[in-house]
Amino acid sequence: MHLYESHYYGGAWQAPLGAGAIDVLSSATEAVVGRVPRGTSADVDRAVAAARDGFERWSRVSVEDRAQWLEKLAAALKPRVPHVAEAITHEVGTALSYATKVQVEFPIMMIGMNARFLRNATFEEELGNSLVVKEPIGVVGCITPWNYPLHQVVCKIAPALAAGCAVVLKPAEIAPLSAAMLADAAHEIGLPSGVLNIVFGEGKVVGEAIVAHAGVDMVSFTGSLAAGRRVAAVAGDGIKKVCLELGGKSAFVVLDDAPFEKAIPAGVNNCMQNSGQTCSAWTRLLVPRSRHDEAVALATGALAKLTMGDPFDAATRLGPLASAAQRDRVLGYIEQGRSEGATLVAGGGRPADRPVGYFVEATIFANVDPAMTIAQEEIFGPVLSVIPYDTETDAVRIANESIYGLAGGVWSASKERSLAVARQLRTGQVDINGGRFNALAPFGGYKKSGVGREIGPLALHEFFQLKAIQQ
Ligand code: ADP
Repeated sequence: MHLYESHYYGGAWQAPLGAGAIDVLSSATEAVVGRVPRGTSADVDRAVAAARDGFERWSRVSVEDRAQWLEKLAAALKPRVPHVAEAITHEVGTALSYATKVQVEFPIMMIGMNARFLRNATFEEELGNSLVVKEPIGVVGCITPWNYPLHQVVCKIAPALAAGCAVVLKPAEIAPLSAAMLADAAHEIGLPSGVLNIVFGEGKVVGEAIVAHAGVDMVSFTGSLAAGRRVAAVAGDGIKKVCLELGGKSAFVVLDDAPFEKAIPAGVNNCMQNSGQTCSAWTRLLVPRSRHDEAVALATGALAKLTMGDPFDAATRLGPLASAAQRDRVLGYIEQGRSEGATLVAGGGRPADRPVGYFVEATIFANVDPAMTIAQEEIFGPVLSVIPYDTETDAVRIANESIYGLAGGVWSASKERSLAVARQLRTGQVDINGGRFNALAPFGGYKKSGVGREIGPLALHEFFQLKAIQQ
């Protein structure tokens, strides 16, 4: 049981000013595994005051010292890896081995990488008779979702702190424990007070209070399109900079000359990672109409290899979804796919042998029409839509017929062909011919997938202001 009774701001654990707590549930057993306070706007007021105070001092700390603080934070998290991974496996349902690597070790590595990005950054440039200076933007409100809880927090706070900003963070109420453990680590190393401040609670209460607060200069948000729209509106009222990482409906375009036996399983694995609770997941598989049935057979074969079960079991690849609400949402979309006439070829409901926990069978729909709801809306669960196309031009058009533009994939026997298609996709990321994730690459969306970029050295620059001094 992970019990946290306080918020963390001003360098100390602070008693909540309101009453109430939020239970954190295990997604596999539905048992209570943790608790955090249910914050109020009064808690936010105090945390923002602490952050303003922290910013005054932190923004004057030297680049080298800030880099060293980040390295100390990463080092303090390392011994906590099993503890944090266990918490996230309960909260999100991510299989433990994947959670350990992707949900915990990778974000810790990213904290260290940000120290390097900071040391390599340039802060001044002469342009004509101007000296252009980069300065930290101020206090950043960070609001994060539950799917990759520590990763999403680190994507924001590591570059923000590196840039010299102070942060007020509200982690997702469904998965807040890793953020609390991050505060434990920050406290242990004596991170200067007011630099990292955390208020637990609900989006509509604590989240909105952070976004609206006059003491917050910028908001970095990751979550759904609906909440992002609200965050952008409230921040707009205060003329605040926003960085938004929202939804996705990414397409994987398999061209007619691709090695299907390699490409299709890669597409299925991408779609199903973290049980489909991944904003950049390739949830639309676009295949030539003439090879549709072959692709579907390969996809169902690949899916059958992904064992569903207890996320703490070493054999498990697919755990449950994070919450009952998410399970019901995903089941609703599966129902809609059926009623709109898509062909269900795998999965399609709750697994009969798992009445407890938020499990949903990994599901494939074939012969999906691009206009169907399951091909347009973000499902955020283990559901793949196979969409046939006639020509390459058609494939590009279908891939781009989305309000989202986060990620995508292309596979062809020819790198040039893949690259030509990749250039036509209106998305922030495209992997061609199995190109691997790169922690140096900027990550973010076109269209309604968001504004701004995270990850890599470029992310640091989101947290700077530019000042031109004419001389
Ligand atoms: P999901 O829970 O499906 O990831 P949300 O977008 O609802 O998506 O949640 C992402 C984060 O945004 C969570 O921390 C949530 O509490 C927060 N949030 C939700 N609504 C708002 C809002 N109106 N203002 C600020 N934050 C919000």
